[in-house]
Amino acid sequence: MRREWSDFLGPPRRAISLPVSRPPLQPPTEPQPISLPQHLKLPGTVPRTEVEEGEECAVCMEMAKNAILFPCGHQDLCIGCAEHIKNNGGTCPVCRHKIQAVQQVKRR
Ligand SMILES: [Zn+2]
Ligand SMILES: [Zn+2]
Repeated sequence: MRREWSDFLGPPRRAISLPVSRPPLQPPTEPQPISLPQHLKLPGTVPRTEVEEGEECAVCMEMAKNAILFPCGHQDLCIGCAEHIKNNGGTCPVCRHKIQAVQQVKRR
């Protein structure tokens, strides 16, 4: 006695498309405080220099960008504004990251 395969098979199955499970969004990790070495302490005065277009501080629009912010690494502020914002517990004007430290960068 011979049975066809179709006897064992039910109606054709449809591929079930499961909804893609996405992991929940993780909250941003808290930035780690960075302590600068003593020898990188900044001088108190900033020489006033000619500022090229697009190179001025995003805050005072007067001084050249010469500060790097930690931990986000943005370089859109002069050292004066960067220090001021940091000392007031402010955030980076670009990415809103809390400024933990600032460091002056040399520019040609
Ligand atoms: Zn400035
Ligand atoms: Zn930033």
